[in-house]
Amino acid sequence: KTTFNIEKIRKDFPILDRKVNGYPLVYFDNAATSQTPKQVIDAIVDYYSNYNANIHRGVHALSQEATDAYEQARIKIQRHFNIPNAYQTLFTAGTTHGINMVASGYASILKEGDEVLVSALEHHSNIVPWQMLCEKTGAKLKVIPMLETGTLDMEAFDALLSDRLKVVFVNHVSNALGTINPIAEIITKAHQKGAVVLVDGAQAAPHIKADVQELDVDFYVVSAHKICGPTGVGMLYGKEDLLKLLPPYQGGGEMIDQVTFEKTTYAGLPHKFEAGTPNICGGIAFGVALDYMNEIGFDAIAKYEHQLLEYATSKLQEIEGLRIYGESKDKTAVVSFNINGIHPYDMGTILDKLGIAVRTGHHCAQPIMDFYKISGTVRASFSFYNTFEEIDTFVAAVIRAKEMLS
Ligand code: PMP
Repeated sequence: KTTFNIEKIRKDFPILDRKVNGYPLVYFDNAATSQTPKQVIDAIVDYYSNYNANIHRGVHALSQEATDAYEQARIKIQRHFNIPNAYQTLFTAGTTHGINMVASGYASILKEGDEVLVSALEHHSNIVPWQMLCEKTGAKLKVIPMLETGTLDMEAFDALLSDRLKVVFVNHVSNALGTINPIAEIITKAHQKGAVVLVDGAQAAPHIKADVQELDVDFYVVSAHKICGPTGVGMLYGKEDLLKLLPPYQGGGEMIDQVTFEKTTYAGLPHKFEAGTPNICGGIAFGVALDYMNEIGFDAIAKYEHQLLEYATSKLQEIEGLRIYGESKDKTAVVSFNINGIHPYDMGTILDKLGIAVRTGHHCAQPIMDFYKISGTVRASFSFYNTFEEIDTFVAAVIRAKEMLS
């Protein structure tokens, strides 16, 4: 059982003590990247202070310590997502890298006339690699449309299911709106057509502990930097038969079995997909970040963040002319909004002057903005280390900015 102690939690994040433009920092850009607790910072310092070495090939003590810590981190990540085997838990440089690994692998599998399905709620990193794949293979890219509520049109999805469908890619949670997508239903229905499903878990990972076996998902990708870990490291899970089927993404050291100039044979999983020296320290810190969040508990985190979301939503809705995009009941702690006649960039700039960090713009999800016929939104995204008082400060600042800009 976990208890949620916000004062204690905030002490773990040194950055929350700093001032921006003379005001205490209010960090509401958590969907872009989360802040880093001192436990993770300490693990990074410890690595470089005490056992920095290259892994997997050294016989010396430091190399073995680093290898052990890196492989321990892999097991932590494996357990967190309930992945059957450690060798199906691939280290990547992040979500974008993981998606590209899978998409580029399918370039040698898909044929002209095959269909791939993307959702209208995707981040560009889950659109562009598949467009590139379709250009290469002649496969056809189709889109699951969205509704005004910011949810997917599941009737349209049913109608798009065809026997030519090979791959579906959808995010678990939309970064622009916070909508939680019905991925279990999408996976079941896609499997009935013999298609595989890649789920982009980048935005879900901070709030939802996904169980890849229960979901029966084929590929699942995340970035560590959204879950209190460092940038430049992430995870790709794949079903064993699919990972064996896909060709390696990059050639290099560490990913080979035998190399001659005539022919190279590849190493088994996970090394086939892990060419070159990886982000060793990042991988270790990723494991520590998951330990940290699991200690607080994902149920406790989700419950508290939902309270923050409801509080912020009701306060913001009192502001005249303010519209929140994405009205799904299933939402993570994201409010994406605009105020009549005010450009989101201007709002974001004034909030920054008051020490408040939000994201403005299209959030790498231009199709969603096109759907609503807007250029962008102001997005405030909350984390478990945020407080109700910070929301009060933020709402007061939005009202002040509105008065200045109207
Ligand atoms: N997908 C989603 C839904 C995201 O929110 C992000 C990060 N904004 C990404 C993919 C890309 O993640 P990264 O930049 O860490 O590769």
